[in-house]
Amino acid sequence: MKALRGGKILTGRTWCEGKALLFDERIRDIVPESAVPSDVESVTEAEGAWVAPGFLDIHVHGVCGADTMDASSASLERIAEALTAHGVTAFCPTTMTMDEPHIDAALQAVHTAMTTPPRRGARVLGAHLEGPFLSRSRLGAQDGTFVRRPDPDFVRRWQRALRLVTFAPEEDEEWRLLDALREAAIVPSLGHSSATYELAMEAFRRGAKSATHLFNGMVPFHHRRPGLSGAALDADVTCELIADGVHTHPAVFRLVLAMKGKDRLVLVSDAMRGSCLGEGTWDLGGQTVTVRGEEATLSDGTIAGSILTLDRALRNFAAETGLPLWEAVRLVSGNPARLLEEKDRGRIEPGCRADFVLLDESWRVRKTFVAGEEVFDDHARRDCTGL
Ligand SMILES: [Zn+2]
Repeated sequence: MKALRGGKILTGRTWCEGKALLFDERIRDIVPESAVPSDVESVTEAEGAWVAPGFLDIHVHGVCGADTMDASSASLERIAEALTAHGVTAFCPTTMTMDEPHIDAALQAVHTAMTTPPRRGARVLGAHLEGPFLSRSRLGAQDGTFVRRPDPDFVRRWQRALRLVTFAPEEDEEWRLLDALREAAIVPSLGHSSATYELAMEAFRRGAKSATHLFNGMVPFHHRRPGLSGAALDADVTCELIADGVHTHPAVFRLVLAMKGKDRLVLVSDAMRGSCLGEGTWDLGGQTVTVRGEEATLSDGTIAGSILTLDRALRNFAAETGLPLWEAVRLVSGNPARLLEEKDRGRIEPGCRADFVLLDESWRVRKTFVAGEEVFDDHARRDCTGL
């Protein structure tokens, strides 16, 4: 058993000082610092840092030159390791709309990474399938050539690798895809869709649980035609938000928080391989993306993925909404864990996985632990090209 002391530990909806975490691959206990057993294997001094639950990124295509659609273990390992520098301890590698052999290969690689976790990285929770079951009218950076009608047999075939599927409900004949997702315990999420408010509400009633990057890839909100975005705000479902100030305006952070509250919002990065590599031209699911400043765009100006990291999303959101960071942290930990029904992640409590992150006063990541192992230390930081 190991111990961590000297931090402000975020437990449930509050935080405490003067306590120590006792853990191996799971959190075993939270005890007064004076009660740390003398025979623990090691003691980490938190030096006043916040100790927060590890972050879960449920929508991330890639980072640091690697992408889920590379369909390789090496790329997934690179993503898994790079994400730990941003406090992420578990993630859903996210696919793009490409031809079936490409998607099959990517899902096979995701399944391999789920069963043989990378040694020093964030854990792979299963894929987020973003396409091909989308509407051609709301593609964003997805390639319309490969859009297909929702196919429940595909879901059944890849049940073992899928965790979350984004689809356009107006394309789903007789709700066959939605029913197959629910049967397979895969999270159905509505997105890249021109669905009306009424149709989207029907999908939520039938078991869709989430809206993919709220406002992006949807009909813009209109007071007489609220559309999918209006339905996602009105229904008791979770909304993903890309809080970079590019995909959504900072005023929208405040509006969405006021409407959804603190428990039904999940910050996602939607990051692509150019994230953390600076300005340049990169591939995203067969599309050429140019990164300039904070923006990643296709040649026609369409916003394409992001270069956001989840720790920055958290800081942006807290700064713009005034939500204390220790409360905002649930938008990247407890809330995504609840959406995915990951019962032993997203919280620091005895019995939960020892996945946690140490953050300084300005909420920069200092250390990250996955399954009780230190996998990132800011003092030993290497830039991502050297990973
Ligand atoms: Zn995406």
